[in-house]
Amino acid sequence: AIRLTNVTVRLGGQTVLEDVTLEVPHGEFLAVIGPSGSGKSTLLRVLAGLLRAGPGRVEVATPPALMFQDDRLLPWRTALRNVALPHDLGAGGGLEAGEALRLVGLDGYAGYYPAQLSGGMRARVALARALAQSSDVLLLDEPFAALDALVRERFNAELRHLHDKTGRTTVLVTHSIREAVWLADRVVVLRDGRVVDELDTRGEGRVTAYTDGLEARLRNL
Ligand code: ATP
Ligand code: MG
Repeated sequence: AIRLTNVTVRLGGQTVLEDVTLEVPHGEFLAVIGPSGSGKSTLLRVLAGLLRAGPGRVEVATPPALMFQDDRLLPWRTALRNVALPHDLGAGGGLEAGEALRLVGLDGYAGYYPAQLSGGMRARVALARALAQSSDVLLLDEPFAALDALVRERFNAELRHLHDKTGRTTVLVTHSIREAVWLADRVVVLRDGRVVDELDTRGEGRVTAYTDGLEARLRNL
């Protein structure tokens, strides 16, 4: 569903992505981890078509649904209307807006405007909006960062369940190795704009085994 071939991106005189080759087969759940500034958000922006890659080739089968690291909500729309935006723009067909809000634990806040919500709540609205899109490709940039522990746990489980149910190609950027390993079929590690490691995480007992293994490997990079 997604294929990057030898993609290099330079921004402001800096090489942010360097010679990245990455294929995400249809239906795969891929997690991208790496230190702050390693190029994770840039990679998602390239995949979303928001940033033109310099040299290299970007192939994405369908326009992806993207959840940005910052929420980008429309201030004049309520939480519910923000989640319903894809539908209003003819790009709905994912989760129904009310259901998506419920999934992120905000069913009681449907009528609130972004300015009336906390930062974490706004991030959850943005997440719900991405889930309301019908796209075959879901790109999530640290969707859990602003969630409290309880919602985070529930949302993790729901996201995996949703993926198993819909078979949507998903690319998740996260700082949590544990979540990456638990959620994804495969984890790639970015460092200084390059893919420096890759781990297949399918199979039984993967959480502890792979988390320990990946942490050890990351320490040795
Ligand atoms: P974080 O984990 O903190 O979100 P990240 O891995 O998502 O980090 P990016 O946002 O992709 O990192 O940024 C990677 C590098 O690219 C950083 O050094 C950043 O300063 C640089 N960068 C990003 N956007 C631009 C831009 N528009 N102009 C110049 N440099 C940029
Ligand atoms: Mg980022």
